[in-house]
Amino acid sequence: MDHASPEQIDIETVRTRLVQQLKQIERDVPAIDVAATIERTHIRRRRAKAALDRLDAGIYGLCCQCNLSVEPEVLHFDPSAPFCNDCQSEVDLRRRNA
Ligand SMILES: [Zn+2]
Repeated sequence: MDHASPEQIDIETVRTRLVQQLKQIERDVPAIDVAATIERTHIRRRRAKAALDRLDAGIYGLCCQCNLSVEPEVLHFDPSAPFCNDCQSEVDLRRRNA
């Protein structure tokens, strides 16, 4: 899969989406499994805030593991995604085997 250059990323659109995502997270509190929901919400908040920090640091869109660009479709699906597809697969594999 092609890795996009960070110049292809519309920073202001991404910032707006991340802020919206944080607001949505604040509203989105289903009561099915409170403990799991709190944990997931915590992770989503941390991911969104970390993405905003990367945006401010000028390194948004770079994979936190390999430093290559995260695929645009990954960022489109989840603007807070920290990893490219390859690294996310490795992380998922490690998590499954842990
Ligand atoms: Zn990577």
